[in-house]
Amino acid sequence: MNENHKARLHHGSCHCGDNKFEAIVDASAGTQCNCTVCTKLGATTTIIKPAAFKLLTDPAKLATYSRMPEIANRYFCARCHVMVYGAGNLPAIGGEFVSVPLNVLDDIDLCEVSIAHWDGRHDNWQAGVASKRYPVAAAS
Ligand SMILES: [Zn+2]
Repeated sequence: MNENHKARLHHGSCHCGDNKFEAIVDASAGTQCNCTVCTKLGATTTIIKPAAFKLLTDPAKLATYSRMPEIANRYFCARCHVMVYGAGNLPAIGGEFVSVPLNVLDDIDLCEVSIAHWDGRHDNWQAGVASKRYPVAAAS
């Protein structure tokens, strides 16, 4: 979990502005994941506890998508379709979480974010993050 001394209040939004949030997050480091959805989304995210996240706009302006709704959902702007955040419950990473795409923070420069990689494609959460991308093909 991303609860360290670099965490501070940031503001995020989708492209059209229908959805806005604030989150207490360390935006200096993010992760990418090789799962089938994250690969297509291409987001750089970080994980925080739900209490550190506050949606400031009407949740009715969000659409949702998940390949495993019992674990996690992603929330997208129903108008401009940008992913606004994800949320779920995964014991391997500490239980309930919100996933904040650093891409949608309005007050950072993504070029300053260091990136590490999850092997979500193989539900290999216990392996933690790596400096290089995990292969898409299963390790033998
Ligand atoms: Zn939007």
